[in-house]
Amino acid sequence: MKISSVDIFRFNIQLKHPTRVPIGILDAARNVIVRINTDAGICGWGEASPFAPITGESQDSNLASAKMLAALIKGRDPLARESLGDEMRRSTVGDTSILSAFDMALFDIAGNVSGLPVYELLGGENRPLRSDITIGMQDSIDETIKLLDERLASGFDAVKLKVGRAGLTDSDYVAAVREHVGPAMPIKIDSNQGWDYPTALANLRAMEKLSIEYSEQPTLASDHTSLRRLRDNTSIPICADESVFNDSDALKLVTADAVDYLNIKLGKSGGIGMGIRIEAIARAANRKCMIGCFAESRIGLTAAAHLAIARPNIEFIDLDSSFGFEVDPIVGGASFDENDGGRIIVDDSPGFGASLSDEFAESCHWATV
Ligand SMILES: [Mg+2]
Repeated sequence: MKISSVDIFRFNIQLKHPTRVPIGILDAARNVIVRINTDAGICGWGEASPFAPITGESQDSNLASAKMLAALIKGRDPLARESLGDEMRRSTVGDTSILSAFDMALFDIAGNVSGLPVYELLGGENRPLRSDITIGMQDSIDETIKLLDERLASGFDAVKLKVGRAGLTDSDYVAAVREHVGPAMPIKIDSNQGWDYPTALANLRAMEKLSIEYSEQPTLASDHTSLRRLRDNTSIPICADESVFNDSDALKLVTADAVDYLNIKLGKSGGIGMGIRIEAIARAANRKCMIGCFAESRIGLTAAAHLAIARPNIEFIDLDSSFGFEVDPIVGGASFDENDGGRIIVDDSPGFGASLSDEFAESCHWATV
């Protein structure tokens, strides 16, 4: 079997509520979807959701890179994922979102060839996944509670609050949310690098009584020392997000004892292959993982869900991006239970079982290599 062509799609969907974080605003999914076709008539789908403040990529840069990567792998065996993955990574610096789209599509092909869902190819046993719901930074505590109540009405039972404001403002927001939801609901906070060390320390100390599950990326991605000092000086566990893209980042963080948890995102790792390596390092160091997302449709979310199912050490699930989409043009794949919004249902279709609808694919087709 050989790769015969790659279709590239420019995928734009508006979000119902923009999510504001300290490093930018996410108001729409501006993604790139790829379909890798083979001479055996089997194909695989993958998705990139570039976010420049984190991965340095844009939709336009991903489209250009997709053409380059497609030309690189055309004519090759799509089942040689590891060697193709190494070659694609060597062909560029960064570009992790678009690399993840190609990695996903190759896993999808492997599943379609074998007739197995990807989580089974990875040796996993289907298990229930529940995602938290992310609430961006709002302008007031009242707006935060209002949006949170809307989302909780869809059945979510865990929340991730975006923080990263100046001074001690964030601890007031988080205290108000804790009081509103009661003592039992899991609350995580994510600063997206928005605090400096003293602000992070002051806020985390003020929040120690609020039963926070963990603090995600409180300080700068490159500053592993501050992460370790926070870990030493507060009781709230610390989770790396922007600090960990790949296996060597994971190794440095656990060796420095800088974090309790590692957040795997396929858009940072460049796909499932590297996600597996990060999880293995976390497990060797007795650390748990989280899995997160950018603004993927259910194509990207399904791939992330299969990895999470296959590696139970990925305990914290934050896969809610497509929940905020104005429309959902994806056929098959993981879905949210409409009566129980936090539950992600993954079926046992071969591969990931997720594709663009024919109509939408036609409307957003950009190039074929
Ligand atoms: Mg994060």
